[in-house]
Amino acid sequence: MEFIEYDVDERVAIISLNRPEARNAQNPQLLRELDQSFDRAAEDDDVRVIVLRANGKHFSSGHDISPEAAEVWAKEVDLENKGLAGLYAWERKHYLGWTRKWRDIPKPTIAAVQGACIAGGLMLCWPCDLIVAADDAKFSDPVARMGIAGVEFHGHTWELGARKAKELLFTGRYIGAEEAEKLGMVNRVVEREQLDEETLALAKEISGMHPFALAQAKRAVNQTLDIMGFYTSLHSVFDIHQTGHGNALSVSEGKLAILVGLDEMKKGGKHV
Ligand code: ZN
Repeated sequence: MEFIEYDVDERVAIISLNRPEARNAQNPQLLRELDQSFDRAAEDDDVRVIVLRANGKHFSSGHDISPEAAEVWAKEVDLENKGLAGLYAWERKHYLGWTRKWRDIPKPTIAAVQGACIAGGLMLCWPCDLIVAADDAKFSDPVARMGIAGVEFHGHTWELGARKAKELLFTGRYIGAEEAEKLGMVNRVVEREQLDEETLALAKEISGMHPFALAQAKRAVNQTLDIMGFYTSLHSVFDIHQTGHGNALSVSEGKLAILVGLDEMKKGGKHV
């Protein structure tokens, strides 16, 4: 694997984003390798807890929207021939489908987050059960600057509450580790140097519990959230997200929707 490292320490699988030179920006290959790694950890009976962490200064700067990556997305999606239908199908499978699958792995998952965690970065840590944040961690979803309501996985309202979710989306500002802890979005904040050690200690503590009890405790909470509407709101808001892509496509005059968003972002948030 090129962009993901996979290790096991006793009964803990450690999955590391390994594209630090690009602030762990997510391209299709990274996401595929990540999905394979989650599958591997989920299917290994010796693995009781899964840690998702990132090499380098930043957890993830989100989906890779560099011009080179945008060409790759466009090909994968077959944007030229399929338009919004192609993008919708791709994102439905890879974003909505995979985040949902990772969220429901019947084993505890813990994200260890340092530095920037932006937009698509939230789609990696929010589906995890627990989040340990380094004191330098900061979270944002600034995609309103690209003319889009928010990232594909609508954790915002659930993670932050309605008012803070709106503030995050309206301003695109960062929420720091301490504020995130106050809001209940992260479980604990630790010193940057202690992030791996503290996360692993927590994972090992949990790994000593009965695996079926862990799976069912997780299911109890996730099912409760789903009964409260999490699952249906996720699908509903995914479609709202697609209206942003649709709008970008409708005014893009043949340019890639993703690049249109990027251009607008560089211009300082003028809407498309
Ligand atoms: Zn999208």
